[in-house]
Amino acid sequence: MKPVIGITCNFDWERGLLTLAEGYYQAVSHGGGIPLLLSFGEMEDWEAVLSRVDGLLLSGGPDIDPYLFGEEPHIRLGRMNPVRDRLEMALTRKAMDMGIPLLGICRGIQVMNAAMGGTLYQDLESQWRGGELIHHTPDAPRWYPTHEIIIEHPSILSRIMEAQRIRVNSFHHQAVKEPAPGFEVVARSRDGVIEAIASPNHPFALGVQWHPETMWEKDGRMLALFQALVEAAREYAGS
Ligand code: MN
Repeated sequence: MKPVIGITCNFDWERGLLTLAEGYYQAVSHGGGIPLLLSFGEMEDWEAVLSRVDGLLLSGGPDIDPYLFGEEPHIRLGRMNPVRDRLEMALTRKAMDMGIPLLGICRGIQVMNAAMGGTLYQDLESQWRGGELIHHTPDAPRWYPTHEIIIEHPSILSRIMEAQRIRVNSFHHQAVKEPAPGFEVVARSRDGVIEAIASPNHPFALGVQWHPETMWEKDGRMLALFQALVEAAREYAGS
């Protein structure tokens, strides 16, 4: 049986709509899994939801409330979604605790980091103190890779990608600042910005700052990320 991958959606409170870009569920499906879109139920029900999925995908979305990592809102902080924050923080902590494979994409890597005790840049451009910053929000097609990342080797990411340098797309003004305890940095862009984190103490807990769900049709290494999540989910389901 194919592993079931729960995917978090965005909640547009102005229009009362749950939304998810098709790349997420298409990539999971092409990666061999069954995409299951998660809605917003009562918090006490989430343990039951996690007991019915084999893996978790945290999708991209708006900025995270800095209160969740102990800061007041910076002047360049973008739109927040407290409903999503609350859900995804809880799901992440439970998935980490239960050993459920999870992949965080863009906002997802930031959720994982904040949920487990790390911090974020609320706005890279105005808060980065590490020298010259490359453009992490260039105006380009969603599928087009605009900057290089350097992958730690050996790491879960270098095993999946079978490469140490790849080019990725980039649509983020926030980023991981201090990695959460138990997580290590597995990729950076050339300016030093953290582009991927992973936990060596968990079967599969990986966060990436770019958007592989818009690249997998053109780059097989991006599909390999989703295949790796599905494979880890298969092992989790059989254990
Ligand atoms: Mn980037």
